[in-house]
Amino acid sequence: MVTIGIAMLQGARHAHIDAIHRAASEMSLDVETVELRTIEDLQKQPIDGLMLPGGESTVMRLRGNDEASQLLPALFAWMREDEARPVLATCAGAILLADPQDGGVPLVDADIDRNAYGGQVDSFESALDCGFPGIFIRAPRFGEVRDEVVCTLSGEAVGVRRGNRLALTFHPELSEDSRYHRMLLEACA
Ligand code: GLN
Repeated sequence: MVTIGIAMLQGARHAHIDAIHRAASEMSLDVETVELRTIEDLQKQPIDGLMLPGGESTVMRLRGNDEASQLLPALFAWMREDEARPVLATCAGAILLADPQDGGVPLVDADIDRNAYGGQVDSFESALDCGFPGIFIRAPRFGEVRDEVVCTLSGEAVGVRRGNRLALTFHPELSEDSRYHRMLLEACA
């Protein structure tokens, strides 16, 4: 049994829960998803992997640092304990990894620019260079990347990996292809 914690601070949470269960059934793997809202949710039971959804990073920072939650610093601490801990972070989640803004070292080593393709109306779908259907919603854009680039759009990094942490600027949970969620589960299994 693999246990995946989902940061429920804000954003595209439920689509990721569905995508994780779909990926697990493709792999014939037993998976349990745990919804994380507060530091206590993380302390209650150990997780094997972590999912950081997209949404609005500013809202996630506010909610996650709130006295009532304190989830965000706890998640950063969990990740920093070991870079082999599996993490899948998408869009706003990727912003949090590249730019944690907590005075600690970034979780992936890459520059990142919020809303760099424009606003909501500039959201777009475009096949990545690997063929994966990339769905970009008010997406951030990587600048200089000092970790491994794992996927590109017209040659530009849209996925960065450090250890078992994967930061994607697009929304894999909105496509039928569950390869990135399977990668998270494979790293846990
Ligand atoms: N624009 C959002 C941010 O700055 C990210 C968009 C997304 O996660 N779809 O956090």
